[in-house]
Amino acid sequence: MASPPHPKVLVIFGTRPEAIKLFPVVRALRQDPRLHTVTCVTAQHRGLLDQVLAIAGLTPDIDLDLMEAGQTLDRLTARLLIGLGEVMDAERPDRVVVQGDTATAMVGALAAYYRKIPVAHVEAGLRSGDIYHPWPEEVNRRIVAPIADLHFAPTETAAAALAREAVTTGVRVTGNTVIDALHWTRERIAAAPALAADLEAVAARFAGKRLILVTTHRRENFGDGMAAIARAIARIADRDDTAVLFPMHPNPNVVGVMDAALGARDNVARIAPLDYPHFIRALELSDIVLTDSGGVQEEAPALGKPVLVMRDTTERPEGVAAGTARLVGTNEDRIVSEVFTLLDDKGAYSAMARAHNPYGDGRASIRIAGIIADAFGL
Ligand code: UDP
Repeated sequence: MASPPHPKVLVIFGTRPEAIKLFPVVRALRQDPRLHTVTCVTAQHRGLLDQVLAIAGLTPDIDLDLMEAGQTLDRLTARLLIGLGEVMDAERPDRVVVQGDTATAMVGALAAYYRKIPVAHVEAGLRSGDIYHPWPEEVNRRIVAPIADLHFAPTETAAAALAREAVTTGVRVTGNTVIDALHWTRERIAAAPALAADLEAVAARFAGKRLILVTTHRRENFGDGMAAIARAIARIADRDDTAVLFPMHPNPNVVGVMDAALGARDNVARIAPLDYPHFIRALELSDIVLTDSGGVQEEAPALGKPVLVMRDTTERPEGVAAGTARLVGTNEDRIVSEVFTLLDDKGAYSAMARAHNPYGDGRASIRIAGIIADAFGL
């Protein structure tokens, strides 16, 4: 008698951070012989996503290639719903896996719900408490919660946030898969240093300086916030003892403002977004991280790098509680004074520079794959 087919798991993602946090999960699912795993990328953000797929050696089974110039949230959401719905009708998965807080995650869960397909949510339970920060990600996450039947909370704090919304069944604290991605990639770099060698010229150019790594791309910061961030970076770079390494998000709301405020300076390297191994190398080289990114708030503490978060709220309070992260908002003077304190006060620096792993032990993906397989009663 023919054995029944393996349950089909459809993993959906669309942006760089989702790819970074899901490639270890896809690897773990694929290693489980009980499951048939299919990947679908929406390519909500094309270029940055492809960089990660290449490094991770992941060729998506289905590529919706949905990114379009000047895409609005309305059009993106509508196109995602139709595109992902058609994929689910063709593939008929037994389970859908989404990650985090993007439109792809929210719509992937909704399309699955319309077909009564169970949904697993990786990185569940992050909440800032403010529906406009981060916008629209806070609500994207909340919409997934009542739909999903498996909630992979990275920390106890995230599980407690779900409990406050009466989501208590199917919640498992697994750690954040970003730490798995970080470990895997650092091991790859150790075995093949050429993977992250392009930054050595920057490291040599800035030898003897304190290196500040900057990333900024949040929608809420576009406009006045971005202009204040740009002026703060200029003042930090006015010091002789600093250098700024700034892989710049291609969004015109970032590039235009930075061009105007920073011009050409010897000690500021504004470069294209780095692929993941090079970004990890940049984190390792840096003394201070200045960012509004979510994922970077999780990676920097794991490497013991003080991280100043240019937001007023965070859905990742664990780094702040551990003392490695601090919320500094987007006020120019505040950003400058917090950076200067870390540069000038050794005690303040070393208090923030202890490595912590509040976000996991690097085995989250293995746990997640096991729980997904177990849920089929396999
Ligand atoms: N990252 C990268 N190259 C860069 C900047 C960031 O690979 O030039 C990685 C970083 O290590 C982190 C992720 O991208 O894992 C964060 O993505 P992003 O800041 O775009 O999104 P968020 O985490 O805020 O959702």
